[in-house]
Amino acid sequence: MAFHLPDLPYKYNALEALGMSMETLEFHHDMHHKAYVDNGNKLIAGTEWESKSVEEIVKGTYQAGAVAQNGIFNNASQHWNHTQFWEMMGPEGKGMPGALEKALTEAFGSVAKFKEDFAAAGAAQFGSGWAWLVKDADGSLKVTKTENGVNPLCFGQTALLGCDVWEHSYYIDFRNKRPAYLSNFLEKLVNWENVASRL
Ligand code: FE
Repeated sequence: MAFHLPDLPYKYNALEALGMSMETLEFHHDMHHKAYVDNGNKLIAGTEWESKSVEEIVKGTYQAGAVAQNGIFNNASQHWNHTQFWEMMGPEGKGMPGALEKALTEAFGSVAKFKEDFAAAGAAQFGSGWAWLVKDADGSLKVTKTENGVNPLCFGQTALLGCDVWEHSYYIDFRNKRPAYLSNFLEKLVNWENVASRL
């Protein structure tokens, strides 16, 4: 089915005081995410993928080692990634639900260690990509990083948290300081209730 650009779940200026400016969200949502939607729709038109869900397209078109050449995959996966990303952030500033805190502590030793691992994964991703907290098929939690638009769906994992580390996500607010963007994301921007709902 045709891709559809979702509205942000908050106002464009809602995260301004938390380190993600209105300008960043306008560019990121209205131009970058919209381009994935528009280009994806052009590429799937008239193909076997036209009637499939975005998740089916991502899983069905992923080819390890050939991501850069794979237009349908790249646009579908980036559309899915950004849709999750907007929902994983929020202006509410609510605390972390107890079930998530417990799961992170069991998997990583502490919430602080999870954040350290997640930030390190995002900082270490060479070039464009994503840092993730995933739930594997066996139920275990892991921190991963992926190139370009590759995401946990490709590996049969559930995405609990994802952080866009493409430069377009942080250059306006943090210039080249990706680690500062990641630290701010974890401390101020994540909607932990959304993350917990994915467990
Ligand atoms: Fe992005």
